[in-house]
Amino acid sequence: MTGNKINEMKTLISGIIEELTRSITYLKEASKPIEPSCALGRLTRMEAIGEKCVNEAMLASSKARLIRLENALKRIESGTYGLCIKCKQEIPSGRLSAVPEALICVACAEQ
Ligand SMILES: [Zn+2]
Repeated sequence: MTGNKINEMKTLISGIIEELTRSITYLKEASKPIEPSCALGRLTRMEAIGEKCVNEAMLASSKARLIRLENALKRIESGTYGLCIKCKQEIPSGRLSAVPEALICVACAEQ
């Protein structure tokens, strides 16, 4: 992978990390327990609980992705970024652009 491409991926990953950090802050707020005293109707309260579940699920997956992206940045620093951990071949840049945190190439992922 060329230096240009590495810098490009760094910028891409840092951008996603920033976005995720912002949405995690929001989701943390949105998954706080719903006050029982809240002056909501019964149905609205059910909806609020349903939404809280969705927010919690999104929070969990956002946190997991954040960790994978931070690890990707570490791999860039250590020079192992973009290599498939299974076959040690370079992961095609198209896949990395779509999934910057990818650890394995498509061929290995399909096995
Ligand atoms: Zn592979």
